[in-house]
Amino acid sequence: MAFENLTERLQQAMSKLRKKGKVSEADVKEMMREIRLALLEADVNLQVVKDFTKRVRERAVGTEVLDSLSPAQQIVKIVDEELTKTLGSETVELTKSPKIPTVIMMVGLQGAGKTTFAGKLAKHLMKTENARPLMIAGDVYRPAAIDQLKVLGQQLDVPVFDMGTDTSPVEIVRQGMALAREKKNDYVLIDTAGRLHIDETLMDELKQIKEIAEPNEILLVVDAMTGQDAVNVADSFNQQLGITGVVITKLDGDTRGGAALSIRSVTGAPIKFIGSGEKLTDLEIFHPDRMSSRILGMGDMLTLIEKAQQDYDEKKAEELAQKMRENSFDFNDFIEQLDQVMGMGPIEDLLKMIPGMNQMPGIENVKVDPKDVERKKAMVYSMTPAERENPDLLNPSRRRRIAAGSGNSIVEVNRMIKQFKESRKMMQQMSKGDMNIPGMDQMF
Ligand code: GDP
Repeated sequence: MAFENLTERLQQAMSKLRKKGKVSEADVKEMMREIRLALLEADVNLQVVKDFTKRVRERAVGTEVLDSLSPAQQIVKIVDEELTKTLGSETVELTKSPKIPTVIMMVGLQGAGKTTFAGKLAKHLMKTENARPLMIAGDVYRPAAIDQLKVLGQQLDVPVFDMGTDTSPVEIVRQGMALAREKKNDYVLIDTAGRLHIDETLMDELKQIKEIAEPNEILLVVDAMTGQDAVNVADSFNQQLGITGVVITKLDGDTRGGAALSIRSVTGAPIKFIGSGEKLTDLEIFHPDRMSSRILGMGDMLTLIEKAQQDYDEKKAEELAQKMRENSFDFNDFIEQLDQVMGMGPIEDLLKMIPGMNQMPGIENVKVDPKDVERKKAMVYSMTPAERENPDLLNPSRRRRIAAGSGNSIVEVNRMIKQFKESRKMMQQMSKGDMNIPGMDQMF
């Protein structure tokens, strides 16, 4: 996830204050210098950094803070509040049309992730609102953009309106809108063309589409990896087209994240979503307060819980809890769990959303190797149904058969079964409310 270095640097700057009993104005100044450097290194816009540090400093040197019993804590709170403000203060939801369809137009440079985001958004709307969207393929310039959207449409079972690459995007949108009205789709998602750079022809075309489609939202999709350039792009799109929101993609990579921190202040347009991976489920609603908390290394339990709720089936979760209590968790459940957890994204990113976790020594070394997961799955697939349901059946000769069948050594099979039994025991204890379990730290 982005912001790793920034988080570390900010925590260092603030932890120095924590160690002091009494905090002086000079201490605050020193901390602010470090915070300023950390932000600049994360590629945050200079003016945004200046405004932010000025606000924090003014509040932090106020006597009621420095003279308080816990000045360091108060200052962390101020930093958190001001960072939230920089990110936009409030969560801004999608604007909906009072009568259907709500029209959402995606704009941005080529490769920013517009087409992918259109698919993610369609999935999100279907999941959260049972929506029936129509997607319009208006990107007639990028080779394969139309096919890409159609593939997404097939995966999601969402209709995609296209007229190939020979008709003008303006005409495509006109006809697509007519179809959506006829079919009573509640959302229309328009994927438009991007260019490598902003040019006049592109802007003219987008303005014409805007006129015809009368969108409720014009969402600018920008790539976090392009840093300050993303901010400049956002600024000019906003001036020429008037955007209603920003989507920042590719925040999963090791981007420095500065764009995410600057865009709101520079353009005034709210960030509405962030893209955190290539999969259709890798979309998060942007909440300034939660993002601030994550950047400051204080975790983001709410997003973690929502992610889990989104990806989890409640009935299944209850069944599973029951099995844990009864110690009847078997290898079939094990496989299902592996698939579900892997589907939520990299474990190391999930762990960091838990408050305090990113200060846990060794957390940066936690890596779950998908190949290892596949190996474990292969072993389970080599078991008979009876063995999967009853791990106690696994005597040495059965273990040898599983090793041969899954292409693993007997040592690996033994280790996997041992781990499975230990986890099962731990889960049973945890489900009975006993959180003080030796070996818990080894669980990952
Ligand atoms: P478009 O030209 O703006 O339509 O861009 P695409 O939707 O084709 O995306 C360009 C590339 O970025 C594709 O390879 C996508 O898989 C990838 N991509 C899009 N969003 C994300 C994201 O949030 N994270 C990562 N890692 N890749 C993304």
